[in-house]
Amino acid sequence: MKKILVADDEMAIRLLYSEELKEEGYEVYVAANGQEALEVVDKIPLDLVILDIKMPEMDGIEALRQIKEKRPDLPVLLSTAYGEYKQDFATWASDEYLVKSSDLDDLKAAVRRHLRE
Ligand SMILES: [Mg+2]
Repeated sequence: MKKILVADDEMAIRLLYSEELKEEGYEVYVAANGQEALEVVDKIPLDLVILDIKMPEMDGIEALRQIKEKRPDLPVLLSTAYGEYKQDFATWASDEYLVKSSDLDDLKAAVRRHLRE
């Protein structure tokens, strides 16, 4: 079973993404900020990470940088309510940049693509 980490400071988003991804057959881990996300990356042999950008403690951009340092091979999808960060070169290290939507089809398609399923 492929292991996915969902890092988002909004509990509603963590729950929604977890439920949807579990239904797709993935094992899902959650984190409420970048610091927690890094702890999960250290502990669990993850297959993919979905990172929110705006989070307290450590934001998604810093978490992305540190995750890519630890696990350059691990696909990281940025999922944010804002398109503006797309121009920020720090986000270019991500494997995909998704703007949040209530329709999770794009997210699920991106997950499948990066897990090469
Ligand atoms: Mg947020």
